[in-house]
Order: sequence, then C-alpha cells, then structure tokens
Amino acid sequence: MPELAEVELARRQWAKHHGEAISGVDVHPKARIYRDCPAPALRILKGKKLLSSKAHGKRMLFTFAPKLHLEVHLGMSGKLSTSSTDHEEQKHDHLIIRTKKAALIFNDYRMFGRIMLHDCADPWAEFPPQPQDPKFSLAHIRKLVGRHPRKPLKALLLDQNACPGIGNWMADEICWRMGIYPGELCANLDPAAVRKETRFVALGALKHVAEKNMTASKDGFAPGSYVENVPPKNWLFQHRWKKGGTCPKCKSELARDTIATRTTAWCPTCQPS
Ligand SMILES: [Zn+2]
Repeated sequence: MPELAEVELARRQWAKHHGEAISGVDVHPKARIYRDCPAPALRILKGKKLLSSKAHGKRMLFTFAPKLHLEVHLGMSGKLSTSSTDHEEQKHDHLIIRTKKAALIFNDYRMFGRIMLHDCADPWAEFPPQPQDPKFSLAHIRKLVGRHPRKPLKALLLDQNACPGIGNWMADEICWRMGIYPGELCANLDPAAVRKETRFVALGALKHVAEKNMTASKDGFAPGSYVENVPPKNWLFQHRWKKGGTCPKCKSELARDTIATRTTAWCPTCQPS
C-alpha cells in the first residue's frame, strides 16, 4: 500500500503537465476503479485545463476548474505515469487523460484503486492535518493521545484520521526512532516525542522518496516494485524487510509480530516491551 511519500511521487508525475488543456479522455467503463463515479462522467474533463494538484495522506486531487476536481486513490497496485501523445492503451490503463503534449495514465491491474469527481470548491476542507503540515502541532497530538489512552502507539500512527498518510513501514520507523515498543499504550507516551519523530519520518520520506526519484523513475511509479532511491541505511526501513535484519543503532536482531493487525518489526533492545 503506497504511503504519503509514494503518493506524492505519483502526484508529481501528472503535475508535470499542469497548465495543459485536455484533448481527450479514454476510459475502461467496466473497471472497478469507477465504482464511485461512472466512467462516462469523466468526459466533463475534455476541454478543461489541468490547473493544479495536491496530495493528502494516501489520496490525490487534480483540479480542472474552481469547482471540478478528480480525486485518485492508488489502492494496492495503482500507478500514475505519463507517456507521449501517441501512447497506445495497455491492458490495465483504465484511465488515460490526453493533452497536446502527453498522455496521463492511471494503470491498476488489481483495481483496488478508485477515482471520484467533485463539483465543490474544496472537497478536502475538513481533512485532519498531515504530519508534514504546521497544524500537526503539539496541542493537536496531545488531543489525539488524550482521546485514545488505551490505543497502542502503532494503531494511533496507522489511524488515517490521526496521522494521514502514515502506513506500515513509516509507523515502524517512528516507533523505532522514539525507542518505544509499538504496542505501548498512548496513555504512557510523550506527545512531544510522537510529534517530533512522526514529522521527522514524514519529511524524510518525502525528501528521500518523492524528491529524489523524480529524475530516476522513467516508467512512472509503481507501489510495491520499489523506487530507486530509498531512505538511507541508518533508517530502520533498510533493515526491516530482511530476514535476520538487525537494528541500525545497536545491531540486535529485529523482532517481528502482528501489532495493530499489521506485521511489525522492532528492536527488542532499543524498544523493550
Ligand atoms: Zn536497537
């Protein structure tokens, strides 16, 4: 499942074509990604310009008019890419938005991704702050932690209403940097440490994954088949996938178990339970 930095990288693929007018829209009307929005409705984009875009957590919003937005979720295997204007539709290209300069492609072979159209000014006006936003303040974290005293830290981090865009590997990275066992209850946490490390990991992931791969990824970005540039070796990220992986701080062998319904890796020495 793509997390906030991978979603931001995907958004930037299409964002290269801000300002371009839409000359055509090709859809696979029966694809499951259209379960919230009938495919023919997308014809409304023809003749409009792709004005701007933004990401929030695991979602992207592409704006075509002050009250016309296309929301995209990548799901498990969704991929945004761009190609030349003569791009020929591939089997899982469920949406192709064509401009005079490029084809903007949404390819999704498992079809857990989805798209929606919005006809209001800001469909995301009520969304909670993301870890990289200034509004992700200490007061905000104190409230979150206070509201869920019996919730494990890992579950809080994975809650998309609390920490939008944080997924499994980022949650493990945050717990490890805090030196806290992922199953520790919110009541026992220091909100300042939660804020500091959540922001560090979110901003670091954006830097290492979203920014550095813009020049590296030629075929667009596919969650799962990982990008060329990843966080450095002193992050848990580089060690948590490996069998026999060790803690980059103390070299203890990493422990693994299911916490908050997800496979979790942690260092039993640095993060005692
Ligand atoms: Zn350790």
